Amino acid sequence: MFHELNEECGVFGIYGPDEKQVVELSHLALYAMQHRGRDGAGIAVTDSETIYSYKDLGLVADVFTAKVLKSMKTGHIAIGHVRNSRRAVVERFAAQPLVMRYMKGVMGLANNGALVNGHELRSALEHDGAMFQTSSDAEVIAYLVARKRVKSGSLEKAIVEAMDEIQGAYSMVLLGRHKLIAVRDPRGMRPLSLGRIGDDCWVVASETCVFDGIGAQFVREVEPGEVIMVDEYGLHSDRTHCGKEKPALCIYEYVYFARPDSVIHGKSVHEVRMEIGKLLAKEHPVEADIVCGVPDSGISAAIGYSLASGIPYGTALIKNKYISQAHISKDDESFERALKVKLNVLEAIIRGKRVILIDDSIIKGMTAKHIIGLLRKAGATEVHLRISSPPVFNNCYFGTTINDRGSLITSTMQVEQICQAVGADSLGFASVDGIHAVGGMENIGICDACFTGHYPMPVSEQIIV
Ligand code: SF4
Repeated sequence: MFHELNEECGVFGIYGPDEKQVVELSHLALYAMQHRGRDGAGIAVTDSETIYSYKDLGLVADVFTAKVLKSMKTGHIAIGHVRNSRRAVVERFAAQPLVMRYMKGVMGLANNGALVNGHELRSALEHDGAMFQTSSDAEVIAYLVARKRVKSGSLEKAIVEAMDEIQGAYSMVLLGRHKLIAVRDPRGMRPLSLGRIGDDCWVVASETCVFDGIGAQFVREVEPGEVIMVDEYGLHSDRTHCGKEKPALCIYEYVYFARPDSVIHGKSVHEVRMEIGKLLAKEHPVEADIVCGVPDSGISAAIGYSLASGIPYGTALIKNKYISQAHISKDDESFERALKVKLNVLEAIIRGKRVILIDDSIIKGMTAKHIIGLLRKAGATEVHLRISSPPVFNNCYFGTTINDRGSLITSTMQVEQICQAVGADSLGFASVDGIHAVGGMENIGICDACFTGHYPMPVSEQIIV
């Protein structure tokens, strides 16, 4: 559904001998990652001579029409990207992959994440004569890598050197004329996994659900700090930056961003969400007749709450999946209008019932208010809101849309006030300690800075609660 919290992107890469399949599989992979970015989509492919790309704003289906797919060049290596913009105005140029010509040839790059020193690096490069076409960090990284490549012996060496300078969250795929490269930041803040189709086709993707969709076997996660390169000699790995930093996977990958059928760090996202639902039932019990989840990411937690509390689970909210992003701008009024089309209530399930409503987060409160209003209109006698993450008090500097602390309802109101503002009878959040204990999360190493203010690296503005 349209969500007040969004992430920046999903990336995909493929190195395969079957040229006919490379673009087709990339296209399917982008479909499987559509939930990670709805503002733009693109594919870049190389035939060893040059890199061809097609990208535009919109959903994958809007960008890659049958006509576009038919006209696309093919090759044996490709990268793909789905984008979610944090900005109200989405820049057409900023759709990815970026394809850059430079002294050593041509390179494609697609990134998921954000740099905390992106402005600093951009400014230093501009003072040195660089001209940027977009405001994206991906272009800064590409520029930096290109400069390093002029002196380094290879593209992968240039990337390893550039990693000394870039700070932040990034999971990237890069495309040279003869190689595919996958890179994950030293803290592993965004997920990135390696898979295989048969003996000689390698794939990388932001989420493992992509592999199921394209018939690939999961091999392993790309390690935090690792640079993987695939070329005609096979797969090679550079671990220069591995183990240098404490891992800090974004907790929201489990709570909301990832698809429930994905697996991260060997843990099923669906099962982790169910465990958080059980935690919520323990931390915030309430008498009620039915537990409902806000689709899609609230569903697993609602099932968990139901199992732990013994209160029956019911499907009460029906989501319309077919509205195009082209109908929606990012202002609040448009967001509300879109919500009306996007969600409807099954009145027969709700009428006369005390409802526990589970959602994954509450950012501005508009979504919660709208859904609670729908439930009351459908005859719910009570609505108890339970959130499967802790209250958000701080900005995220790593590529999500939690970037305006002043607009966070949880940072400006107390729980009772929020309850009143969204029209709930009661409200409870999962606790930070509770979340850390779920599924052995504390052993993985997670980022929880938007709840606690404990950032995994220095950021320009820290708000400690
Ligand atoms: S600050 Fe919050 S949203 Fe941002 S990476 Fe950390 S946990 Fe994720």
